[in-house]
Amino acid sequence: MRGLIDYHTHSVLSDGKEPYEKMVLAAIEKGLDEIGFSDHVCLKPVDWAMQEVDLPVMTEQIFEIREKYSHLITVRYGIEMDYFPGEERQLARIIDNLPLDYVIGSVHFIDDWNFDSDQSLYGKWTNDELYARYFGLVQQAASSGLFDIIGHLDIIKKFCVYPETDQGHLFEETARVIKKSGAVVELNTGGVDRPCADFTPGQRWLEICLSHGIPVTLSSDAHHPSQIARHFQPALDLLRRTGYHEIVRFDRRNRSALAI
Ligand SMILES: [Zn+2]
Ligand SMILES: [Zn+2]
Repeated sequence: MRGLIDYHTHSVLSDGKEPYEKMVLAAIEKGLDEIGFSDHVCLKPVDWAMQEVDLPVMTEQIFEIREKYSHLITVRYGIEMDYFPGEERQLARIIDNLPLDYVIGSVHFIDDWNFDSDQSLYGKWTNDELYARYFGLVQQAASSGLFDIIGHLDIIKKFCVYPETDQGHLFEETARVIKKSGAVVELNTGGVDRPCADFTPGQRWLEICLSHGIPVTLSSDAHHPSQIARHFQPALDLLRRTGYHEIVRFDRRNRSALAI
């Protein structure tokens, strides 16, 4: 995986299993050019995310590890932030106070329901309604302009929940909104190891994103050093087959292209 980047990784500061250093060493071992950390930041008091009061610790640790390994790898400072409609100002305040390279905006909640881990409410709506709700939130997240990267775009399929009818119109509208927002989409390979056993987003979505001119970046959603750059070869094959010839990277929230 020489010359590549992995922009979605979690350390023990949120719900990852190891500290930054072990993740960085694994990334060096795999030959990556850049590793970006993206620990969870959530306005809700959940045990899998950093709380605002702890953020200076995260910044300090990132700067320390970046300095220590700067001769071997570039360490990027990102966060994966939960989007909540109506909380844009509070989210902006947190983002603006951190020296970040990028912000991944993710939707893990529909109202108070964390559909990403709690399966109890699946079936409350039809799958079509669930998709409309989820992608409605994704559209709001993109429109907020807060985020550089839209996280695991079709994660609503995680537990193999698929729409009853074709949702092409919903997907197209979502892609239009993302394109207009200027955000990019990540090809997150973590979904391959989840029940849906597919990249998030999958091929159809990538084709839609390409047709709208939405750039992509690449990430593993690693929660353990062994997961860094997982499934990157098939991911690159899929991107090239789809028609993507570059991915994007970020430096202090400025984007540049990396040929693949
Ligand atoms: Zn996530
Ligand atoms: Zn994540």
